[in-house]
Amino acid sequence: MGKATGFMEYTREKASERNPITRIKDWKEYSSPFSDETLSKQGARCMDCGTPFCHMGMEIKGATTGCPINNLIPEWNDLVYRGNWKEALDRLLKTNNFPEFTGRVCPAPCEGSCVVAISDPAVAIKSIERTIIDKGFEEGWITPRIPQNRTGKKIAIIGSGPAGLASADQLNQAGHSVTVYERSDRAGGLLTYGIPNMKLEKEIVERRITLLTQEGIDFVTNTEVGKDITAQELRSEYDAVILATGAQKQRDLKIEGREAKGIHLAMEYLTSTTKSLLDSNFKDGNYIDTEGKDVIVIGGGDTGADCVATALRQNCRSVVQFGKHPILPASRMPDNMWPEYPNVFSLDYAYAEADAKFGKDPRQYSIQTTKMVMDENGDLKELHTIQMEKLKDENGQFFFKEIPGTEKVWPAQFVFIAIGFEGTEQPVLSQFSVNTKNQKIDAKYGEYTTNIDGVFAAGDARRGQSLIVWAINEGREVAREVDLYLMGATVLS
Ligand code: FAD
Repeated sequence: MGKATGFMEYTREKASERNPITRIKDWKEYSSPFSDETLSKQGARCMDCGTPFCHMGMEIKGATTGCPINNLIPEWNDLVYRGNWKEALDRLLKTNNFPEFTGRVCPAPCEGSCVVAISDPAVAIKSIERTIIDKGFEEGWITPRIPQNRTGKKIAIIGSGPAGLASADQLNQAGHSVTVYERSDRAGGLLTYGIPNMKLEKEIVERRITLLTQEGIDFVTNTEVGKDITAQELRSEYDAVILATGAQKQRDLKIEGREAKGIHLAMEYLTSTTKSLLDSNFKDGNYIDTEGKDVIVIGGGDTGADCVATALRQNCRSVVQFGKHPILPASRMPDNMWPEYPNVFSLDYAYAEADAKFGKDPRQYSIQTTKMVMDENGDLKELHTIQMEKLKDENGQFFFKEIPGTEKVWPAQFVFIAIGFEGTEQPVLSQFSVNTKNQKIDAKYGEYTTNIDGVFAAGDARRGQSLIVWAINEGREVAREVDLYLMGATVLS
């Protein structure tokens, strides 16, 4: 243990964040790593508890506590306190293939489980993690690790999100030949075309893909499995296949006026914005532009918050976010008494920015959209809502009821629908004849085998829309199972 009295001497600091008014003028990341001195003090706050709950990840009733990839948090906290950066990096990389992603955008359930947080603010684990990995890249300590021996086994991975990337990394290091198929023009899944640039700069994702390529992984982009290449072709060419296709099928709103021009699914908005930024710095005009317009985001989760922050950077005239049934702490109703996650899904950045620009919180709670109205050209003109009341029935179940007289009309030229995801897309799954359950691939957590021999599944495609850290967890574990399947024993943990 580092400094026994560290948690009493030093207060928690967050990684510094750029001024909201300045940062909405560009698309650069809004947060930055700690200085060396701050890092050491923040590491010293770790108590190295007898039972490090931060390190022990689990899911309880759908909520994550602790680190799903069992990061060796107390160890690297101690190492950075002592200034042993390189060793801290080694320990970090032992369990986490991509700390540069989680250190930026993980909601940090580890901090929610930190024992220091019983009386004081939690240890700033996420910012420490980010600082260690950024230093590792800066110092040139991270170089391609090219496997010395190859097993002769070939594996196809469908989908290049964090689940696909983590499984590819593990299997490549175990000596197998890995090819990752991706239907988009760039690899990275939602790391690239989902999470906006100001949360995770795309150079960071590209840097990792380049490293994995140098280590021997083949990436085949612009190739949709099931369309450009069939399941049969892949099955005959490869010894095993992993389906890591994500859960990007978005839930839509079936409501009067939905066909009006200006109403989009959130992912159409976020994806087109990032692609245009990367392709041409917006010169191609191939994105949905909200400049000077009134924007409404329907949905109170992190996808919705990312739409708010994107519209602010486009210089929208106004932005409001509706949450009918808040499921995340940051979008909760004022009567929600549950403690907040220290990092609240990285949502608050968007609200701080909206507050700085317009002087108010964009969130509206317990509100229900009743219809969308368009003008004579079919363009969206306004949105009608009613306020909802949250009540309990005789069985103690919550339900929402409209409050008469609270009808309201909102001017809007753009609406972005961010009300969740239904599951993974089906065509590729039916070609592989894999069973699904509730629009997810039917494969048991910890085993990852589907009903088809040699075909495995991991990440959001199996679990439903979740978190990067769970995708990495499943990517690592499915790799272990595939290694075992191919070799009869496994070198992977
Ligand atoms: P994905 O990342 O969805 O990757 C799946 C890939 O498979 C995609 O690239 C897709 O194009 C490809 N694919 C699908 N079908 C085919 C096919 N037939 N052929 C070839 N390729 C195919 N999580 C966090 O932890 N922190 C956050 O801040 C955060 N923010 C988010 C913001 C948004 C807007 C969204 C939508 C999600 C966010 N998440 C966040 C969730 C996180 O991004 C996902 O849980 C994670 O990316 C899932 O990883 P995955 O590899 O399973 O799937």
